[in-house]
Amino acid sequence: MQGMMMQMPLRIIEILQFAADVHPTGEIVSVRTEGDLHRETYVEAFQRTAQLAHALKALGIDDGDRVATLAWNGYRHFELYYAISGMGAVCHTINPRLSAEQMLYIVNHAEDRAIFVDLTFVPILEALAAQLPSGMRIVVMTDRAHMPDSALDLLCYEDLLDGHSTTFDWPLVDENAAAGLCYTSGTTGNPKGALYSHRSTVLHAFMIAVSVPRSLHEGARILPVVPMFHVNSWGLPYGAPLVGASMIMPGPALDGPSLFDLMENEGVTASWGVPTVWLGLKAEMEQRNAMPSKLDQLVIGGSAASRAMIAWFEDKGVDVCHAWGMTEMSPIGTQAQLPKAQDGLSQDEKLDLKSKQGRRVYGVEMKILDEEGKRLPHDGEAAGELFVRGNAIIQGYFNNEEATNAAFDAEGWFGTGDVASIDETGFLCIQDRSKDLIKSGGEWISSIDLENMAMAHPGVANCAVIAIAHPKWEERPLLVVVPQDAANPPPLDEIHGLMLEHVAKWQLPDAMELIEALPMTATGKVSKLTLRKTFKDYVLPDAH
Ligand code: ADP
Repeated sequence: MQGMMMQMPLRIIEILQFAADVHPTGEIVSVRTEGDLHRETYVEAFQRTAQLAHALKALGIDDGDRVATLAWNGYRHFELYYAISGMGAVCHTINPRLSAEQMLYIVNHAEDRAIFVDLTFVPILEALAAQLPSGMRIVVMTDRAHMPDSALDLLCYEDLLDGHSTTFDWPLVDENAAAGLCYTSGTTGNPKGALYSHRSTVLHAFMIAVSVPRSLHEGARILPVVPMFHVNSWGLPYGAPLVGASMIMPGPALDGPSLFDLMENEGVTASWGVPTVWLGLKAEMEQRNAMPSKLDQLVIGGSAASRAMIAWFEDKGVDVCHAWGMTEMSPIGTQAQLPKAQDGLSQDEKLDLKSKQGRRVYGVEMKILDEEGKRLPHDGEAAGELFVRGNAIIQGYFNNEEATNAAFDAEGWFGTGDVASIDETGFLCIQDRSKDLIKSGGEWISSIDLENMAMAHPGVANCAVIAIAHPKWEERPLLVVVPQDAANPPPLDEIHGLMLEHVAKWQLPDAMELIEALPMTATGKVSKLTLRKTFKDYVLPDAH
């Protein structure tokens, strides 16, 4: 028997319409590439989104067409998210940190009809111009006064909006229609496209709203450091208006001092981003010996947040919520907000839990499998490949049968490529990406664990552990350290001492190398691929 309830399609545009109706004073504050600060309410954003939808129609954009963006976090990018999907097209966010080759690959693979670009990134398009799909329109996200001189045929965003009606007859698009497209950063081969639907995006907005209420609630002021050009800024442009939180958009200003000032001046209550960003903010806080006064929560994910970093912020009164996810999961899968039942734990025990990746958010199921594909127990000990399923997880890659065939198990669950354990209370602990694990004499060593422990040494500003080939043990760990003070680097035996409190002697890194800065991927993570290349011929002390 079927239920007898109406079925309205879940549509992205309804989130903004709702925010304009119910949270009209919620605002988007943006640091602009033009150099100033811009403010608009959700009401104004909804009106401009309507104008933009008319402009897209006038450009000939149709249902299902891909429209690309190459832009920082800002109000125009936000308007594009809603206008493109709202009118039935697909918003394809492009990561400007990708190589020219990768960018051309995805623009052509996605068959983008138009691209909206921030002033900063116009030179990228100028360099690629000859190889862009023919007929692709280029719109610069600025006003007439700031339009750059260029040999390209450029359109102006504000000119396009000008004169159009501030209302639009938003179509009742099918909730399963494609709405957004984001490519993984392709550290192993060509980037792969995750094609989000209206339904998955709206459900994901609900999922993060109910899972991380300390960040997402009416009146909150959230600063997404995590970029709108990769995985929808972890869903914040949808979750924030849904609950009536304001968004403080940093634009291109992502260094420690700029973030600190923006947080202080705008009364930011929560901020989300990858660990490397918080290293910059932490340095600034140490320098000023101060914290942004309203800052209440940091959500850290994308790669493992070290216990030392979590402890540092918690000690200053900022709640840290560790989160894990993937482009293919829209992206949030787990969050480490502690359950009420853990209130009685000591701060040390709480930090142990917060350093794990947390419990699943509603709508994500998890299982861990051994090498034969057998389910492993959730006992906090057994570790295997993590598989997930849920409504905001891909069921295939966009136009990529080969990658799709390799990504799912026989039950249709998505293989994350992460090796993890899950404890009895549901806390996920990511040990490593399977390709980053170090295989030593038939046993595995987790690079994340060792990095975490090394970060606890005050002389370590940042670090990474990679596998080095070894004639006897197959692989052994090498610790690569960015020292806090290059003239006075931390001694390896002191770092070993810290590690020995937690791991066996055979798991200790065999050697340490100092480096000025760690190479980063396009999504702000340490690029272990590059590090492995750099140290390809490295010979460990006892490997002769
Ligand atoms: P890509 O860099 O491939 O574009 P994603 O942003 O989708 O990727 O990254 C997903 C991967 O990042 C996960 O599979 C996992 O390995 C890693 N990751 C994300 N969050 C965490 C975390 N909190 N701790 C450890 N690893 C994480």
